[in-house]
This record gives sequence, structure tokens and C-alpha cells, in this order.
Amino acid sequence: VINVRNLEKTFGRGSTIVPALRGIDLDIGRGELTAIMDPSGSGKSTLMHSIVGLEGATAGTVTIDGKEVTSMKEPELTKLRRDRIGFVFQPLNLVLTLNARENILLPATIAGRKIDQKRFDHVVDTVGLADRLEHRPTELSGGQQQRVACARAMVGSPDVVLADEPTGNLDSEATSQILSFLRKSVDELGQTVVMVTHEPDAAAWADRVIMLRDGQILGELRNPTRDSALDALRDGR
Ligand code: ATP
Ligand code: MG
Repeated sequence: VINVRNLEKTFGRGSTIVPALRGIDLDIGRGELTAIMDPSGSGKSTLMHSIVGLEGATAGTVTIDGKEVTSMKEPELTKLRRDRIGFVFQPLNLVLTLNARENILLPATIAGRKIDQKRFDHVVDTVGLADRLEHRPTELSGGQQQRVACARAMVGSPDVVLADEPTGNLDSEATSQILSFLRKSVDELGQTVVMVTHEPDAAAWADRVIMLRDGQILGELRNPTRDSALDALRDGR
């Protein structure tokens, strides 16, 4: 589904130049749950943003289903994101003046799409928000806000879900709850999910783990376990 070729992204210019991605090659197939781990914390969010065209590429290409995102312009880009992609942003990007229900439904509202009530209830139950729907983000804990962001990305059952540290503020029980939901969505709906994580526990839910460091791919693990992900993370340091 997603093909990344020799992707480079450099921020700034002159003496403040920051090479965030240095030649990424990555193919992600339909119905795969992929985790991206990075021991040193540089380039993961940039990669996620580049895949959906929120960040332009300095060099290289990204294609989704054969359509080149890196050369796409508006309004095609917005249409692609709206029709096909769910995104969990690292800073969550919840709208503070809307309650949890309205935040979860916002992308569908903007797109003029109706979300099936059953699907909504299912997603909200699964992420554990059923009794918090009328609360605004400031009245929710960090973990609950994260659940809202996950529910918002998942509720429209998009083909592709990109989640930037979807379990960063969650304890281990809530983490398993969210990840088993992502796992089930991949297995049952055939969704393609790419998530960024620092947690070997979270990586163990994935079909594959891509290890990134300093904007380059160090290697990958197939069918990772908690221990193999932990080892790979240690080796990457
Ligand atoms: P973390 O694990 O902390 O989330 P990350 O792996 O997601 O980190 P990125 O956010 O992709 O890292 O950032 C990679 C590098 O690019 C960093 O050095 C960052 O400062 C830089 N960077 C990211 N976005 C911008 C931007 N818009 N302008 C300038 N530099 C940027
Ligand atoms: Mg990041």
C-alpha cells in the first residue's frame, strides 16, 4: 500500500540545517501492523507526516496505492487524507472547545460523512470512553485525551491509519486495550496501521518493527516479541 523510496527531508538552511530523514526505503503492505521504533528520537514524526503529505519531501518519493503523494497538490492531498487515512498526532491536536464526542466525529463532520452509530459505540467502548463523551479535552486526563485521538482516527474505518505514539500517555493496561483494538482492526477489517512507539511491549503487537536511527533505517524485525524488540532497541543505541 505504502511505498517510500529514498526519502530525504532536511529542515532549515545554512548553519541551522537539520537532516531529519536521510534516505528511507520502506514498503508497507495492506493489512500489516508496522511499528516504527527509534532509540534516539529523531525522524519518526517527520516520516509519518511525509507519508501523508503534511510535510513536503526534500528528495525521494512516497506513494500510496501507486499514487505519488510527494508530487500531489491540493485539493487532491486533502481528499486523499479525508477519504483514506486516519492520523493520531503526537500532540493529539484535539479541539479544546469541542467535547470528546464532537472531537471523535470531527473528521467525518468536515467530510460530510455519517458515522454508523454502531461503529461509533463500538470504537468508544473499545477505547474506554463511553462515560466521558460529554467532556472537553481540558476535563479529561492525558490518557483519556489520547483515547479520544485514537477513536477519532479509527471511527471512520480508514484504509490506512498512522499513529504517532498512540499509547505514549497510557499505562500498560490501557496500552494493551488500544493495541489489541489496532491489532483486531488490522486482522478483521484489513486496515493498514503504522505506529510509532518507544515501548517494546507495544512493538510486540506488530507484524514487524522498523528500527530507525538518525533518519535512517537500521533494520527490521518480523513477528517481534517484547524481548526481541528490547534487544533491537539496545543494539540500536
Ligand atoms: P520524538 O521521539 O521526540 O517524537 P521524532 O523521532 O518524532 O522525535 P521528529 O519530530 O521527526 O523526531 O524530528 C526530527 C528532527 O527534525 C529533529 O531534530 C527536529 O528538531 C527536526 N524538525 C522536525 N520538524 C521540524 C520543523 N518543522 N522545522 C525544523 N526542524 C524540524
Ligand atoms: Mg515524534
